[in-house]
Amino acid sequence: MKNVGEIEDLCIGCGTCAALCPQNIIRMEIDQKKGLYVPIINGECDECMKCIRVCPGIGVDFRELNDDIFGKQPKNLLIGNYKGCYIGYSLNEKLRYNSSSGGMITQILLYLLEKNFIDGALVTRMNPKKPFEPEPFIARTTQEIKESKGSKYCPVPANVALKEILKTPGKYAIVGLPCHIHGIRKAEKINRKLKKRIKYHLGIFCNHTPSFKATEFLLKKLNVKKEEVKNIIYRGEGWPGKLKIETKSGGRIRILLSDYWGSGFGQLFVPKRCELCVDHMAELSDISFGDPWLAEFASERKGKTLIIARKNSKILKNMKNKEICEIEPIEPEKVILSQIYNLYVKKKLHRNSLYDGNFPRMDFIDSIIAFFEPSKLKIPWILKKRYIFLYSLIASLKARIDFLGKL
Ligand SMILES: Cc1cc2nc3c(=O)[nH]c(=O)nc-3n(C[C@H](O)[C@H](O)[C@H](O)COP(=O)(O)OP(=O)(O)OC[C@H]3O[C@@H](n4cnc5c(N)ncnc54)[C@H](O)[C@@H]3O)c2cc1C
Ligand code: SF4
Ligand code: SF4
Repeated sequence: MKNVGEIEDLCIGCGTCAALCPQNIIRMEIDQKKGLYVPIINGECDECMKCIRVCPGIGVDFRELNDDIFGKQPKNLLIGNYKGCYIGYSLNEKLRYNSSSGGMITQILLYLLEKNFIDGALVTRMNPKKPFEPEPFIARTTQEIKESKGSKYCPVPANVALKEILKTPGKYAIVGLPCHIHGIRKAEKINRKLKKRIKYHLGIFCNHTPSFKATEFLLKKLNVKKEEVKNIIYRGEGWPGKLKIETKSGGRIRILLSDYWGSGFGQLFVPKRCELCVDHMAELSDISFGDPWLAEFASERKGKTLIIARKNSKILKNMKNKEICEIEPIEPEKVILSQIYNLYVKKKLHRNSLYDGNFPRMDFIDSIIAFFEPSKLKIPWILKKRYIFLYSLIASLKARIDFLGKL
């Protein structure tokens, strides 16, 4: 491969190659057939291979990067390196209510900006001119950081915004999915400016990113024409929250996360590269954030964020002392339990040499579960959602037996 133009299904559309290409000839475009961003090479490539070297789609050396970032290998391969696990939320009620879980990512960015610890943050908002497309950018004001709150359940080429970090000296934070963080960590290895300028890496737990087809599927179900949509917000209004669509004619639609995610949106449009992904909890970030999917939070309505502090807990503790947020420790086992299905699929069924010998061995039942993995079978469309539900239920039970000894 001479450049990422030939990468095909290994690409997750993170945008790192587009930002790091010295010739500036890589552009991220939506491939309408796949419903994903793909890199388009537009110009004379001198085959410097930089795009290949920073590409997380091709591969990530967790062993080497763990050594570089944390100076050691993780003791717990399900969570990765960590110093402490917490559950927390922003004490700004409005922010907490309108963010994804407890508003902790946005709250930390606001704190870092207000304290001048950063000059800007790489975040993602929806593009006001193109309501279905995300817009990664460098937020430099509190208003811009607030505008970017909330999860975007569509492909996001976040790392294209690294271009601005490369161009403009300063101190930055970046927010991204595990694969965005992988791309950034790889890029930092070959680009000193990035390594020096990016001070905080905030990572988001990630099961998978639904392709743009998922949103189109949902609109069809709702009988809403694409051209009619003025804006779409995937999460907000408490926890677990709602998807909101505003139409040009003034209509407003709201659907609970569980209703739309479970409708096929969250099951039927998984990119091929996500099926190979082994990182659920953004293990190479400085702090990771997710939802507390645990029975004890079932009645939570305002929202709380699960937090894994990987290097230290200083910022979190300072924010708590200044009454900006509430945080309390939570057992790592609970963090694992809250994400058990994803961890089982990503870590055990997709195991690679890093995990061999460290995890419970693949047994007969695992082999059967792996064999019946939904993406490997040709399941009629009409049955697929139910099949995936049943599959994830069985896989979750097996995960509990293997990792938690709960049954
Ligand atoms: C595609 C996707 C899959 C996820 N899967 C899981 C899961 O399986 N389990 C789980 O517990 N949690 C998952 N999450 C994380 C969860 O939805 C929340 O993002 C997390 O709990 C943090 O909430 P918060 O209120 O602190 O974030 P907020 O304060 O609302 O801030 C969210 C931040 O994330 C950034 N962002 C949003 N979407 C994207 C994106 N697609 N790419 C890059 N940056 C983005 C925004 O710019 C913003 O800075 C997922 C999130 C996404 C986007
Ligand atoms: S760097 Fe990212 S966008 Fe570029 S080819 Fe690799 S995975 Fe795709
Ligand atoms: S599952 Fe992995 S590859 Fe897919 S979007 Fe999430 S972090 Fe990226």
